[in-house]
Amino acid sequence: MMTDNPPQHMETLSTPVISLPRHPNPTTLTVNNGHQHHPHPVFSLIKQCKNIKQLKQIHTQMLRTGLFFDPYSASKLFTPCALGTFSSLEYAREMFDQIPQPNLYTWNTLIRAYSSSAEPIQSFMIFLQLVYNSPYFPNEFTFPFVIKAAARLVQFRVGQAIHGMVIKSSFEDDLFISNSLIHFYAICGDLAMAYCVFVMIGKKDVVSWNSMISGFVQGGFFEKAIELYREMEMENVKPDEVTMVAVLSACAKKRDLEFGRWVCSYIEKNGIKMDLTLSNAMLDMYVKCGSLEDAKSLFDKMEEKDIVSWTTMIDGYAKLGEFDAAMSVLAAVPIQQIATWNALISAYEQNGKPNEALSIFHEQLSKNVNPDEFTFVSVLSACAQLGAMDIGVQIHAKMKKQGIKLNCYLTTSLIDMYTKCGNLDKALEVFHTVKSRDVFVWSTMIAGFAMYGRGRDALDLFSRMQEAKVKPNAVTFTNVLCACSHSGLVDEGRMFFNQMEPVYGVVPGVKHYTCMVDMLGRAGLLDEAVEFIEKMPIVPGASVWGALLGACKIHENVELAEYACSHLLELEPENHGALVLLSNIYAKTGKWDNVSELRKHMRVSGLKKEPGCSSIEVNGEIHKFLAGESSHPLCKEIYSKLDEIVARLKSFGYVPNRSHLLQLVEEEDVQEQALNLHSERLAIAYGLISVEPSQPIRIVKNLRVCGDCHSVAKLISKLYNREILLRDRYRFHHFSGGNCSCMDYW
Ligand code: ZN
Ligand code: ZN
Repeated sequence: MMTDNPPQHMETLSTPVISLPRHPNPTTLTVNNGHQHHPHPVFSLIKQCKNIKQLKQIHTQMLRTGLFFDPYSASKLFTPCALGTFSSLEYAREMFDQIPQPNLYTWNTLIRAYSSSAEPIQSFMIFLQLVYNSPYFPNEFTFPFVIKAAARLVQFRVGQAIHGMVIKSSFEDDLFISNSLIHFYAICGDLAMAYCVFVMIGKKDVVSWNSMISGFVQGGFFEKAIELYREMEMENVKPDEVTMVAVLSACAKKRDLEFGRWVCSYIEKNGIKMDLTLSNAMLDMYVKCGSLEDAKSLFDKMEEKDIVSWTTMIDGYAKLGEFDAAMSVLAAVPIQQIATWNALISAYEQNGKPNEALSIFHEQLSKNVNPDEFTFVSVLSACAQLGAMDIGVQIHAKMKKQGIKLNCYLTTSLIDMYTKCGNLDKALEVFHTVKSRDVFVWSTMIAGFAMYGRGRDALDLFSRMQEAKVKPNAVTFTNVLCACSHSGLVDEGRMFFNQMEPVYGVVPGVKHYTCMVDMLGRAGLLDEAVEFIEKMPIVPGASVWGALLGACKIHENVELAEYACSHLLELEPENHGALVLLSNIYAKTGKWDNVSELRKHMRVSGLKKEPGCSSIEVNGEIHKFLAGESSHPLCKEIYSKLDEIVARLKSFGYVPNRSHLLQLVEEEDVQEQALNLHSERLAIAYGLISVEPSQPIRIVKNLRVCGDCHSVAKLISKLYNREILLRDRYRFHHFSGGNCSCMDYW
């Protein structure tokens, strides 16, 4: 008889955190034919196989001779099929199903192969078959791989159940199982449990330490990671390159340059193998800790560089605003790769420099480097930030020309760009033409309606989203509540908020509470808003108090405003907006003494108002205006246009509303002038001069539009017969024929 239980053979796992012992290679063992041991000649043939075709030939031969029906021999053929360098899991699975009684080694090999495949769930399936349909019980070479599959799928419950089985089968002392459990619990975010397993290990190896340290880093406990590393040193466990990558990553996240430098010198002194991953981790640490000089000198010394190294440097310079340095690194990349351009473009886009992002994009195009999906997502977002409609349209055309297929990211970006640039129809067109819509596509479209004050349409879309069986998430609810708030749909807003957790399983977060306070407050239900805040199960953040304060401003409730303001300033003593709002309230109610007191306080503490800034796109070029600015080349024309506007408005019976002024100025005309200089007015005046009368004037403002500018814009839209689209920090205003799309509800 052949032996049923050949010794197990395991190699190290591909993931660096888990390792397994090397067991005697089964090929050195023999088939027990009942008389004596001698290796079958076909085994050495299997060993020499160079490709799957040769394996298949041997498979055929073994089937013919019947050798394949011996479980041990079959396992010899099976292993290279499932795990070898030229393995084919599909073929291995077919073969597995042919083996009449696969031995435990074969079962384990298949579970292991699936655990690192694209379908780790198959590991569970095979595992269950092993438990129910085979004479074997899982052993120390089974568990690590089902646990690995559970980690890859983040299947907490399944992993827990397997842990239970491990304990029941008395394998809890097995180092390799424990190491994989640490990794599993860390991946699932249960660091307490991971640490429990870690502490229980009698003789920890470097992998145990690495798994726990990496777990802390991934969970955001950087201090703990570094602490554990120090403990590891004290226990005289020699760290390896995996340890160092984790520790450097903790330093980078903590912005701890000093310790990071120490780690780098430790690596050098102790001769830890400097592979590319470790060099890149050092580079990343220097960049994140803000020491570009250290990064640069390491970068220059690195013999091997890859795309990660290049993009790390580019990203570092871009974030510091060192445009030239970033460009020169980019120029030095041996092969112009789109990923490096993307790094630079997205670094600018995400650091509030959309203009720079677009100019790099144009440079990329001029160098004939074709943009990819990632580039398009970044530049569309830059256009959305700027309200740069013309450029956005060009980019959309370029995508079509390049034959880029719209995935959900791109669809979301396009809808976002069109809504934020003031073209809701075009956004809807994109929305209706795409085939696949994920939760973000739906949510962005809902946000679009919300911004335009089309609350009913937003809610309609929300119910259609559910008909389409797309599960709403936290973002969806923020947008839905925002839509209710902007349209005064208080009953609906209350209803959806109350349904969030019980019906949809989405726990309300601070954004949702803020939306609710905003909604109740705008609708004038100030008492209910206060009651709502008092009943909140989480600590009300600054945004919640800010929303209440904004509502107090609209409804001129000075007492409550002071209350909200004091809470807000407790959390954010430097919050300039809060002081400005409070000062506006005092001004509106004529409490000039309080205004000047507040102004003095702000002057003394050196607080500066975020300057109002409006931008307008004319012929694909963005023009920015600050309040009262005079540096524009057409400055003279703009100011005379403003005078003309004022004269026409006055003859129409317009009286400026003073309460929106922060400054208390005595003379009427000076005051009027200050109002005149609000950035959105300069932009509108410039728009009247330079935008074709058939085209709408599109303006983006960084702050909320003031009430006076809002009425002026309405009047201009009537007197000059122009459409004005103004996006402020909170929403869209579409002025036309003397009215605004917000119906003065904003
Ligand atoms: Zn204004
Ligand atoms: Zn409006």
